[in-house]
Amino acid sequence: MEISERVSNIQPSATLALSGKAKAMKAQGIDVLNLSIGQPDFNTPKHIGQAAIKAIESGKVDFYTAAAGIEPLRKAIADKENADHGTNFTADNVVVMNGAKMTLYALGQALFDEGDEVLIPLPYWVTYGEQVKLAGAKPVFVKPAAGRLTVVPEELEAARTPKTKAMILNTPNNPSGAVYTREQLQAIGDWAVEHDIIVIADDIYGKLVYNGTKFVSLLDLSPAIRKQTILVNGMSKTYSMTGWRVGYAIADEQVVKGLKTFLSHAAGNMAAVSQYAALAAVTGDQACVEEMRATYEERINTLYPLLNEIPGFKLDVKPAGAFYAFPDVSEAVKLTGFASTDEFVNALLDEAHVAVVPGAAFGMDDHVRISYATSMDVLKEAVQRIQAFMADHQK
Ligand code: PMP
Repeated sequence: MEISERVSNIQPSATLALSGKAKAMKAQGIDVLNLSIGQPDFNTPKHIGQAAIKAIESGKVDFYTAAAGIEPLRKAIADKENADHGTNFTADNVVVMNGAKMTLYALGQALFDEGDEVLIPLPYWVTYGEQVKLAGAKPVFVKPAAGRLTVVPEELEAARTPKTKAMILNTPNNPSGAVYTREQLQAIGDWAVEHDIIVIADDIYGKLVYNGTKFVSLLDLSPAIRKQTILVNGMSKTYSMTGWRVGYAIADEQVVKGLKTFLSHAAGNMAAVSQYAALAAVTGDQACVEEMRATYEERINTLYPLLNEIPGFKLDVKPAGAFYAFPDVSEAVKLTGFASTDEFVNALLDEAHVAVVPGAAFGMDDHVRISYATSMDVLKEAVQRIQAFMADHQK
């Protein structure tokens, strides 16, 4: 049977493919150190699971909920975002969905028409472009000047056409760990307002910033910029809840209506049990968030200098958020004589049993993404193995 052109035109997630290969090797008994992972390595905090169990036992999760999610959860999310950003959203501005991934997909379906263009800065999360294509729109990738991993309005403006409807901005960034400053965001926000470009703000790593870095959201800026922004967020990274699949959008009445109509046919509602777990996450003790954040901070502080000592690995700016480092490895590829970053990464996995993701998956061929959502011991051992691999191949 033939599959649709629409799906033939998109690529399976490269990060999933790489961690799939690493997992398969592990299953064969090979001692793989997996730094290709895009999810927290902590179990979901106990009190969140307990709340879910309670919800099941009380029979609360046995039936469909509203397509946008249960009212108490939407209200709790609105309250939380209002507390973070000084906004005044209500439960009616919130739609909860099956992860931020599904949220972004649903937004694409609700917002874009055939031929619309959507600006996506490099480096980007693998999924953005494919979702834009699934909505019939055209992803337009915007490359920052060499040496920078964040874009400026001039670069966005150069890519803008009369068909440009939106842009997707992700800070803290996957894969680079870069965090946009208030000034940078202000400039992009002003540009978006001036040209009436919708900004989809993927703030999913907003609680994971390190060493005094302040996370600024587009929602923290002027009312005009807020009006131009649709927030995407979720529980996956903040509360280590990837498996529960809880994400949400915060948007104006019109977009919320579009999302609800789309969801009423595409998904019904997100799993009720996960909605109750999310309610406990948002309204419960937030100490777990700080505990996990502090652990990531310790890891990047250890990992950053070690990575920079590897011959040919170049990290100009210390990653300030999320849980990834994105070194330029073009020198390392040259030193070892591999033909491409892809070959380098595959040899590293096959020979040194260290899995990282080639930068091409994020639109930047010269880099690799290294996830530090893994233990300090694994990180240190992985760096040693990369060092040994480099030494072997430079001979
Ligand atoms: N946005 C970014 C930038 C991500 O890295 C991820 C997860 N890898 C998501 C969205 C999706 O997260 P989830 O669907 O688990 O909420």
